[in-house]
Amino acid sequence: MSHLASGRYNPRMPPSLTDTLLDWYGNHARDLPWRRTGDPYAIWVAEVMLQQTRVETVLPYYRKWMARFPDPKALAEASSDELMSAWEGLGYYRRAHNMHLAAEKILREHAGQFPQNPEDLRNLPGVGKYTAAAVGAIAFGADVVALDGNLRRVLARLMDLDLDPRSVEGEARLLGYATSLLPEGRASAFNQALMDLGATICLPRRPACDACPIAGFCRAKAAGAQMDRPVRGARAGLPSVRRVCGVLPRQRSVLIGRRPLGGLLGGLWEFPGGDTADNEDLEVALRRQVLGQLGVRVEDALPLGVYRHSYTHFQVTAHAFICAWDGSEPTAFEHTDLRWADVDQLAANPMGKIDRTIARDLKERAEAG
Ligand code: SF4
Repeated sequence: MSHLASGRYNPRMPPSLTDTLLDWYGNHARDLPWRRTGDPYAIWVAEVMLQQTRVETVLPYYRKWMARFPDPKALAEASSDELMSAWEGLGYYRRAHNMHLAAEKILREHAGQFPQNPEDLRNLPGVGKYTAAAVGAIAFGADVVALDGNLRRVLARLMDLDLDPRSVEGEARLLGYATSLLPEGRASAFNQALMDLGATICLPRRPACDACPIAGFCRAKAAGAQMDRPVRGARAGLPSVRRVCGVLPRQRSVLIGRRPLGGLLGGLWEFPGGDTADNEDLEVALRRQVLGQLGVRVEDALPLGVYRHSYTHFQVTAHAFICAWDGSEPTAFEHTDLRWADVDQLAANPMGKIDRTIARDLKERAEAG
């Protein structure tokens, strides 16, 4: 049924664009598990997981997470290992730590009920402008726009914005435009309609304008400028970091250390090691890092492999070595914990991409004898 026909026409906004968009959404909304609930906790979990991550990737994590931690209480009571295991592979691990802290706060300060007040929402650890707006609009029906990457792109094209939408002025222009389109009381459908349009039709490299329900309103399309919108700010190439990793074996076990909470990959387990200095010899760097982190001297180092991974802001090349050391007992100088893990059981320890690959190689070597 048309929204005009349903009487939801509002003369405050350009009605036909909004109505056309909402009609399309009414018929084409993606069927996603977090859309079948009004539970703000479940909506928050989905919104956090979806940051920087595709829906298809999030779906199995979301189902597993909601089965294991169905409410703030279950999440607050989870151990760090449980949490990291449920999150492993999603990346940006700080999100999981912040959710844990937020759940504890909800239990402590809101009697386990997810807060509705915008100020309380923003005061939850890890809840920034976008998440507060998304949860506010989708779970509580607040009349706000949640500007994520999809919305920025679609709106920048619709209004043919000639500014970087991430600049202060660009964002203000986008928000002003989106707010002028926002139908009162229907922010949940409006935001999700734009999210879906951005994820399925108004794609970054290949916008399917022929299939777009609001193509007739799109100023970038009219100007033939879809591919020039959004305008991108200057981006430098990714800096690269060179690392060394030491595998210290003892019978069938190897030593792993837990990274401190808060930093990159915080709370995950890793093989000891660290960055090399500029032009530093790899084995010299390995001895220096292992001595500094564990207080033991590497006496011999056998190359295991070279591993590469790109994060958002830099790329890492890690050189792993199997080490013979002076036999003294390692001490955790930089890790929060050390553990001797059986090579077959390494998979049970939450790890980042590179360490997970090293662990897999070690297991394959052990199986090959
Ligand atoms: S017409 Fe093309 S560029 Fe404009 S909103 Fe639709 S898909 Fe995006």
